[in-house]
Amino acid sequence: MSESSAREAADATSDSEKALGLDWPTTEEWKTALDSAYALALDYLTTLPASTVSHHASPETMSERFNLRLPDTGCAPAEAVCEWFSRAEPGIVRTPSPRYFGFVTGGVTPAALAGDWLASAIDQNPATWLLSPAAAQTELTAIRWLLDLFGLPLSWSGAFTTGATMANLSGLAAARQWASERLGFDASTDGLGGRPAIAVLGSTEVHQSALKALGLLGLGRDSITLIPSRNGAIDLDLFAAQLSRTEGPAIVIANAGEVNTGAFDDIRAVAELCAGHQKGAWLHVDAAFGLYAALAPSHSYLLEGIDLADSVASDAHKWLNVPYDCGIVFVRDSRYSRRAFGGSAAYLSTTGDPQLWNAFEHVPEFSRRFRALSVWCSLRSLGRNGYRSVVERSIRNAHEFATWVEQYPGLELMAPATLNILCFRFLPPDSKTSDGDLINARGIEHIQRSGTAYVSGTRWDGKAAIRAAFDNWATHSRDVDALKLAVSSALRDIAQVSHGEKA
Ligand SMILES: *Cc1c(COP(=O)(O)O)cnc(C)c1O
Repeated sequence: MSESSAREAADATSDSEKALGLDWPTTEEWKTALDSAYALALDYLTTLPASTVSHHASPETMSERFNLRLPDTGCAPAEAVCEWFSRAEPGIVRTPSPRYFGFVTGGVTPAALAGDWLASAIDQNPATWLLSPAAAQTELTAIRWLLDLFGLPLSWSGAFTTGATMANLSGLAAARQWASERLGFDASTDGLGGRPAIAVLGSTEVHQSALKALGLLGLGRDSITLIPSRNGAIDLDLFAAQLSRTEGPAIVIANAGEVNTGAFDDIRAVAELCAGHQKGAWLHVDAAFGLYAALAPSHSYLLEGIDLADSVASDAHKWLNVPYDCGIVFVRDSRYSRRAFGGSAAYLSTTGDPQLWNAFEHVPEFSRRFRALSVWCSLRSLGRNGYRSVVERSIRNAHEFATWVEQYPGLELMAPATLNILCFRFLPPDSKTSDGDLINARGIEHIQRSGTAYVSGTRWDGKAAIRAAFDNWATHSRDVDALKLAVSSALRDIAQVSHGEKA
């Protein structure tokens, strides 16, 4: 082929590439694509505080709206984005709303969102230092800032994960490594087959995600000895007795913020018992939202002794109010994480310089999202004082609501208000004839359908109950008032129904 016909062929390819949308876009084309998401986001965010918080799209509605074959022919990027939004809209739940009190979600601060957008645009991979010194250094700095914010030793290491589930897994992987080495083998290389069992202890309120982690780590979900709890906190006498009966090294999982009531284990007492265990104990603390108590001088006592732990799991997508997903794992001695997660492959060519920080040696993933940017931007923007305000206001809101529940006829607070999670229920109008579980299910549904505020259900103390979590950075008293209104309206609905039943 002559040089000119080769170029003609290349140009023809380029024409069809352009039609396929595979040519590098012009500035205007980039702008049109990004503006579509920007306009939708701006509308969503500016109408969020006044919008209905919950939608009840059924699986049928949603699958009908998305009942499309994979298109052969594409469209402009902006068209794709707008089409998605209009199809998905009925299924978008306003979880970042200041009136969403369900589960423990949190919202998104402006700086966190801007940082998250930029992270996607620059597409950095913080797996190793060489892949992005900017991302690696940002992660190191954001982790150091968080250690400082939470009052944890600055000598600890840490890394970002998808959430507290993977943070629990990462901390417990280091724990497993430590325990296996004490027992004379290497869990990471040898596996667990045919080796002495590793003892795991925690309370009956240990979070599902920690049990899942034990399963994934090959220790087994049932390997844990569940110690009874009182008011959500581990019974120390029973724990001490069980630990003293444990022959080998133990992995202990403590709760700093139990998910139903927000209760805390006595971390210092647990840590001291661990320190006294002859064969050694690794203390892992699940502090997904509870770690933020450190920011409120009135409540930081709840975390006393946490600096004695060996690993701590927490979440940033909850009370730090950065977008999904973002969890955090902190580890006292990173040598165990490195032996659990590290490795070497010729192509990685990590330079072998031990000074260079490589995130993949601290978490399960290799390639991952540049989550640290969103965290860095939000911490830089709100600062220590801003976050302290967010946490203190959340706690104030929770306690104000708790006082209201205690005084309101027909409601019962199921557990003391410890931090920012409240567990309460509708009292059956007539305890002999009415089914409390049914009434609470009906009450929750009434609140959820009202759209003014959102709460979720649980069971506590053998009874159906309601949970309200306060961790959104933008929740103010007026939003707590909206929650009270939704709860009292549900109460009237319940009274009407049970009155009707009797008549
Ligand atoms: C939310 C939560 C988890 C799980 O966190 P994800 O971020 O959803 O993975 C674990 N433990 C506690 C106490 C939690 O509140």
